[in-house]
Amino acid sequence: MPRTIPEPPFELSALIPEFADLARETTLLYPRSGNPGVEQSSMGGPLLWPADEPWPYCDQPGHWTCGPGSSAWEKVTPETVPMVPVIQLFARDVPGLSFPPGKDVVQLVWCALLHEQDPAGVVLPRMYWRNEAETVAAGLLGDAPAPDEGEYDEDLIPRPCTVCPTPAVEYPQRDLPEGLLQALLPRLEELEERYGFWYSEVACALQNKVGGYPAWTQSPDWPHCSQGHRMEHLFSITGEVAYGRWLPLDEHRPGTAQPIWDAPADPEIFDAIGPELEIGDAGGLYVFLCRRCPDLPYAHRSDCH
Ligand SMILES: [Zn+2]
Ligand SMILES: [Zn+2]
Repeated sequence: MPRTIPEPPFELSALIPEFADLARETTLLYPRSGNPGVEQSSMGGPLLWPADEPWPYCDQPGHWTCGPGSSAWEKVTPETVPMVPVIQLFARDVPGLSFPPGKDVVQLVWCALLHEQDPAGVVLPRMYWRNEAETVAAGLLGDAPAPDEGEYDEDLIPRPCTVCPTPAVEYPQRDLPEGLLQALLPRLEELEERYGFWYSEVACALQNKVGGYPAWTQSPDWPHCSQGHRMEHLFSITGEVAYGRWLPLDEHRPGTAQPIWDAPADPEIFDAIGPELEIGDAGGLYVFLCRRCPDLPYAHRSDCH
């Protein structure tokens, strides 16, 4: 079931028509800890995986971890490491996501270690598109292999979460062309004065989501495929929890705009929120896709605060 999120404090495209052509639909996932099954959409949950397809392993040389609360990298030396489930979405749960013909499940896994060769600095995601009925009919893998102690960085394994895909409309934040930003500045400042929100708080969510705009915490860095096509943003993955404009109404303290987990927090709710990931000091991992190339190449970027 989608969450109910508050109406935005102001409708950007109605007040500033230049935003109208820049609106994009996103689907916020709102992961909350739980016990999703293989036939459910999830973050960090078990995947609908064919029995006859080997589970993916990472054999990149040069694996590293980063201890809890530390920024020092420590080299670890496993030979090959099983990848871990990150996202599984079924088409029925995410009507806003367009699937390739004949496919209705998308899955993302990654190696939960740091990689010195990775230009994005962190995990190495792999993506799979499947047909649910064919996969089930052919037989499913039992328990997937999981990394042992020392074969993962705990900040990079999402805990099992159910998701509540919730559609919303986003506008560019750092992707707003610089010239346009300058031209709109007086009107954006006027909106902030009147409503108390800077436009970027309303425009774009640093959340776990599908589509929309990446809520870059650093300069935008859109990848291109080998054919030179600019890719589209498919997933954002982050440890950030919903707040402000994006906080679901049922997680508001009654009658206020404050989150229900603000002190005094309700531990039952507080402890269930989010996948407990920490990517680059509260930044995001962004996955991009080229639909113009038939083999659907993908790429990733990451940033940090
Ligand atoms: Zn790896
Ligand atoms: Zn392409």
